[in-house]
Amino acid sequence: MKTPNEELTIQNIKGVGEETALQMNAMGIHSVLDLLEYVPYRYDDYRLRDLEEVAHDERVTVEGKVHSEPALMYYGRKKSRLTLRLLVGRYLIQAVFFNQPYLKKKINLHDTVTVTGKWDKNRQIVTVQHFQGGPHGKQGDFEPVYSLKGSVTNNTLRKFIKKAFNDYPDVIQENLPSVLLEKYKLSHRRDALYHLHFPDSTEDMKQARRRFVYEEFLLFQLKMQALRKFEREHTSGIQQHYDLEKIKEFIHSLPFPLTDAQKRVINEISADMKSPYRMNRLLQGDVGSGKTVVAAIALYSSVTAGFQGALMVPTEILAEQHANSLSELLSPSGLSVALLTSSVKGKKRALLLEKLRDGDIDILIGTHALIQDDVQFKQLGLVVTDEQHRFGVNQRRVLREKGESPDVLFMTATPIPRTLAITVFGEMDVSIIDQMPAGRKPIETYWAKADMLSRVLTFMDKELDKGRQAYVICPLIEESDKLDVQNAIDVYNQLLHYFEGRYDVGLMHGRLHPDEKDEVMRNFSSNQLQVLVSTTVVEVGVNVPNATFMLIYDAERFGLSQLHQLRGRVGRGEDQSYCILLAEPKTEVGKERMKIMTETNDGFVLSEKDLELRGPGDFFGKKQSGLPEFKVADMVHDYRALEVARDDANFLINSKQFWSDSEFKPLRTYLSSSGVLEGEKLD
Ligand code: ADP
Ligand code: MG
Repeated sequence: MKTPNEELTIQNIKGVGEETALQMNAMGIHSVLDLLEYVPYRYDDYRLRDLEEVAHDERVTVEGKVHSEPALMYYGRKKSRLTLRLLVGRYLIQAVFFNQPYLKKKINLHDTVTVTGKWDKNRQIVTVQHFQGGPHGKQGDFEPVYSLKGSVTNNTLRKFIKKAFNDYPDVIQENLPSVLLEKYKLSHRRDALYHLHFPDSTEDMKQARRRFVYEEFLLFQLKMQALRKFEREHTSGIQQHYDLEKIKEFIHSLPFPLTDAQKRVINEISADMKSPYRMNRLLQGDVGSGKTVVAAIALYSSVTAGFQGALMVPTEILAEQHANSLSELLSPSGLSVALLTSSVKGKKRALLLEKLRDGDIDILIGTHALIQDDVQFKQLGLVVTDEQHRFGVNQRRVLREKGESPDVLFMTATPIPRTLAITVFGEMDVSIIDQMPAGRKPIETYWAKADMLSRVLTFMDKELDKGRQAYVICPLIEESDKLDVQNAIDVYNQLLHYFEGRYDVGLMHGRLHPDEKDEVMRNFSSNQLQVLVSTTVVEVGVNVPNATFMLIYDAERFGLSQLHQLRGRVGRGEDQSYCILLAEPKTEVGKERMKIMTETNDGFVLSEKDLELRGPGDFFGKKQSGLPEFKVADMVHDYRALEVARDDANFLINSKQFWSDSEFKPLRTYLSSSGVLEGEKLD
């Protein structure tokens, strides 16, 4: 449905002919409202600055007195350079204009002029990119810059926007209710929009931005929260009436008391499982925070309620490890735990599948082998996926569809920055384990240059002499498994030689046969191997508490999150652990990453930093990011507003007034026009 405003096309603006209209259409501008809402993507800053504070090569605007007759010089064909001296405060600098010979006549000795350009600090020269023929101030401090197509220029666009404001001021309607405008002292939509296009001062711009950041986040969050609410209310899940006594007993039988954070998330998960809604929950917890036992308790609960559980993990090593630790935990309670990976074949597999169908297997653990067609459960109640970001959305969906409507728990040890969690997983419930088991010592991390390798090895020797074990992680060469493997073999051979007769060294990489991997892992777990040379296959989940030392070669080749995951293989017991990053980063960002690694063990801090260094698009990898695009707001820098908007949206969606009062009508209209309210009753 089109409102009258949307039908007011841009051709209604004087001066916009057919040609211009077409070009603006290509920019997504069809109506006068579109034009008014076409906000600049950045501003050029024309504020005056003290030259003292300006760094070399930075862009600067200065006002000064012309101190020498402009000297014009031609070179080549049509190329010219105009040079003059400019007295800026107490600095005498040079201003250079390229290919603007006509300025010679315009600029006179003793004129006051304002120039903007690149500052060569060493030679005290401004190469002028923008010239204002008079004192500063004519220009305004900020010039909006629009994303343009065709022959539409920044200036024509601004001219039309100005006309639109004058001729059609009523096109812009307030969409936020006055309670919110007052609560946050936000400016009216029309004023804010005007100041985004024509900012007079920093303050104007700040206020205008603030309003739109909030509006964008609120609209987005309303959509997510509405989706979540309706999904909860409309998809009937299963009610799992678990046996609380048995669960308590099980928790008491654990070799350690649960942390408060573990107890809290277990309560959140239990409440979901008991409810008639289908659970759709993300469990975040840093490496080593103890997610496995939480999963075990949830799976156990499901079994006590008469259902089966499934745990899907990304690698075979991890599947085996989980199968071992879960059988150890759950078998004493009489549960049957089975492992299904691609190496389970033939008769063995057929038998396993039969038992699964008959309900003789309570908990099935495996890799993506779990989602094959012939894998059928008798009554699947809970699906847990570990390291969920490694599975595609489809794989998760297929697994979920194996039961009637099983509850789903996604676990991840890659802490997702709060900001991204709110946006990307806005439609999911999120539980966070933000506490480490007691008695853990923070891992000490050091950054060493390649020429310090022999000292690092001496350090490693000392740890091994104490009876500890060590991981050595080999560099990632490129997206080539083959080269990675070759590298690991080289390092392995060197260390074999280095530790000869003293310690046993094992080798692990992705090309080993599953049986071989299994054997290497078992030997490392049982301390028959003291040193494990490996590619990144050990990245996820492997648990050998006696390993207290990790050496990572060429650490600059890894991302922060990955380094943190790798490092998480140590520091899992009570002894002090160490992680040495051998790295020669070439870029500032690379150095920054190494520094951050040595400064914090907190995965959430690291993920926020990672996001800052890489930007939101890169965080998940471009393809699967699925991140919403905001015109004004920035998810990283405006995250406080995002949190506020989320809470407000949540409150609104669950309040009566929102669905009835007229002041919320524009927001309801927005929800229905974005398709969220399909089939919902409105007004
Ligand atoms: P992650 O969250 O990385 O999957 P794990 O579940 O593998 O962590 O747990 C790491 C280690 O901590 C395991 O050895 C586990 O037995 C132990 N652990 C888990 N919870 C606790 C706790 N509450 N107290 C002490 N140790 C715990
Ligand atoms: Mg884990």
